[in-house]
Amino acid sequence: VFDLSACLHEMIDFMYPRFLEVKINLTANIAPDLKVEGDKNQLKQVILNILNNAVEELCDLPEERIIQVSAFLMGSRIGLEISNNGSQIPAHLLENIFEPFITTKELGTGLGLSVCKQIVEKHNGKIIVSSNEEQTIFSISLPQAQEKT
Ligand code: ADP
Ligand code: MG
Repeated sequence: VFDLSACLHEMIDFMYPRFLEVKINLTANIAPDLKVEGDKNQLKQVILNILNNAVEELCDLPEERIIQVSAFLMGSRIGLEISNNGSQIPAHLLENIFEPFITTKELGTGLGLSVCKQIVEKHNGKIIVSSNEEQTIFSISLPQAQEKT
């Protein structure tokens, strides 16, 4: 069992120099002590992949660049949302975005999100994406670890 809240803060700190460099306005709203059962490093990779994609999307956005991270309890599950402003993901891409080797980047592998999905599902979680003209949101839900008594 590990503390997802701490992992989120750690990955945000890790990315912080990059956020500064790209002039990203970051908001984090992370409930404390969100406990998940499983592999901490794999979940860190999920968080990092999504944050990296968000930064890459924002790199040449002419407007203010915004990333929002929120994590919260919803009943017995944990919700995690990572959003960025930027252009809308077209429907055909949205349908296949979690498939391996789907990329729109010249040097992309298209593996990031497929790995995210595998890891999240291995932890009995779900990952979905929604995108409109204003923002793109990756939403993850995971079971909250049972308190060991
Ligand atoms: P890669 O980053 O190597 O291209 P990913 O699996 O991480 O592979 O992402 C697949 C594709 O999904 C990206 O090439 C990009 O087109 C799209 N994508 C991912 N995240 C975002 C985002 N936050 N905003 C817009 N498009 C995104
Ligand atoms: Mg990627």
